[in-house]
Amino acid sequence: MKRKSNPPNILLIAVDSLRRDYLSCYGYGKKTSPHIDAFAEEATLFEDTISAHIPTTSAYASMLTGRDCFGTEVVALRHRGGLTEKVTTLPEILADKGYSTLSVGFKGNPASRGFENYVEFPSWGDWSERPLRKAELLNDAFLPELEQMEAADKPWFALLRHMDPHAPYLPPAPYDRMFYGGDPCEPGNTSMDPVRSFEPFAGFHLSWLPPGITDRMYVDAQYEGAIAYMDACIAVILERLRGLGALDNTIVVINGDHGETLYEHECWYDHHGLYDPTLVVPLIVRYPKKLPTGRRVSGFNQHKDLVPTLLDLAGLKTDLRFDGRSLMGLVKGKKTSFESEIYITECTWMRKHGWRTPEWKLIVALEPDFHFKPEIELYNLVEDPLENRNVAKKHPDVVAHLRGRMEAHIAGREKQTGIRNPMETQGAWHGTMTTERFETSQEAYETLRIGDAAMAKRLQAESRK
Ligand SMILES: [Zn+2]
Repeated sequence: MKRKSNPPNILLIAVDSLRRDYLSCYGYGKKTSPHIDAFAEEATLFEDTISAHIPTTSAYASMLTGRDCFGTEVVALRHRGGLTEKVTTLPEILADKGYSTLSVGFKGNPASRGFENYVEFPSWGDWSERPLRKAELLNDAFLPELEQMEAADKPWFALLRHMDPHAPYLPPAPYDRMFYGGDPCEPGNTSMDPVRSFEPFAGFHLSWLPPGITDRMYVDAQYEGAIAYMDACIAVILERLRGLGALDNTIVVINGDHGETLYEHECWYDHHGLYDPTLVVPLIVRYPKKLPTGRRVSGFNQHKDLVPTLLDLAGLKTDLRFDGRSLMGLVKGKKTSFESEIYITECTWMRKHGWRTPEWKLIVALEPDFHFKPEIELYNLVEDPLENRNVAKKHPDVVAHLRGRMEAHIAGREKQTGIRNPMETQGAWHGTMTTERFETSQEAYETLRIGDAAMAKRLQAESRK
């Protein structure tokens, strides 16, 4: 039995590739997340959470250390070596406070350093292996561990990395048809032609999509269905916690490492490109002892704020320094927003950085990209929230102003941390052995390939070396 004096358990459901705007509790027009919606009614929902350092490795590194990319020194999926010893991870902090710590589905990544126990579950497969019951397999791995941890006289911390909204999107019935009633191979529909002709990704996507697919709306509906399927499986976890009498003594967080671009921006069912579908993530925290229920909190925050928030909620003190701050400042209304101007980075399929303000987004390429996009992109997020009109040429003054603010921020963080911007020093970030840096978009286009689903799995595994 648990002692009453124990600090609360922490359950961090950190879903890979979950975009905020596809959850019904964040206003999506279809009912994709009824159980998460109900959970949010008992929780505090944050409306403006940004994943500043996409994709997976760099985002989780920030989420699990309370640091930005200058603190974690991680910007690339295929980060070389381990996480710097200068930082302490959340499981390391909590182990020191007497917690047992468990990672489900995130073994071997530099960002997942410091867990006592790692369990894995299968989360990849192609069309011939459909459906992929990723979230049920996660539950099969996690629930026995949960019962054991709950039976011991120790608080526990568990990280769950759900993979359902990460391609391949192959949810089981009825979710594969929940949001789609048409013919995926409808004759005459040409909407999937550009996906087929984008050689770097075509092999991978065609390995898990229905043979002969022509209708892009079918793929979007699989993403929606994967969320709805995962949502039902997350309900099983929450009900088990409730049944064990542990729910109210557990801080439960639903977050995403980054979002996902579906058909937008020619990024094709992946999470590269510094556009809002990939940068904006959900964050919902349930802990009725200290957090209001059914409250929606606006104001910008980032992954680096999560660790200070969890320690604050759990009543745990540490001498460690973080780049983020406890979100209780926003919840209590002491602050209306944290930094609203944010340095954003990506370094997996393209190497770019930028500066996001509530009104503008500047994206600057550090080398030519495989989409043949312009070196500088500028979007007015108020007038053009879908980021379809690059106005960099029309507003050179705004570009210069934002660039100056971004460069001042970089210089400031370099001075504070005593390192060079990891965006400049990562090296061989793209995982190819033939070049350090692409000189042209054509070279990048001809070099970068995902391959098929098995290759994609290996690519992710390579990020663990
Ligand atoms: Zn990810």
